[in-house]
Amino acid sequence: MSKPAETIFGKIISREIPADIVYEDDLALAFKDVKPQAPVHILVIPKKPIASLAEAESEDCDLLGHLLLTAQHVAEKAGLQANGYRIVINTGSDGGQTVFHLHLHILGGRQMAWPPG
Ligand code: AMP
Repeated sequence: MSKPAETIFGKIISREIPADIVYEDDLALAFKDVKPQAPVHILVIPKKPIASLAEAESEDCDLLGHLLLTAQHVAEKAGLQANGYRIVINTGSDGGQTVFHLHLHILGGRQMAWPPG
């Protein structure tokens, strides 16, 4: 499979562009969304350049689990444990994805609506 085109998130991983990074380990990075949609809005991304959830493969199983547990950890660190939060993975154009590097949105600090827009 061909290597996905580098996105703005790839440039954040390589520190070519700045971001407000709140967590990092060998596999994942978390940073504040530049256009927050809630009082807390943090993105969790894998360092591996997977374009979207639709591109993930069975070999990514452990990595996907790691991203969810990273989101849990980052949400707790952001003070969201007591009242809860929402995790969103926009996938493809109908899903509203605009950056084609897999990312989990952590949204919290206000009551979320359902259904989402
Ligand atoms: P999505 O629409 O699910 O692909 O989400 C992409 C998100 O990335 C949006 O919420 C943007 O506000 C956010 N974003 C884009 N560029 C940056 C950046 N340089 N730093 C932080 N967040 C960004």
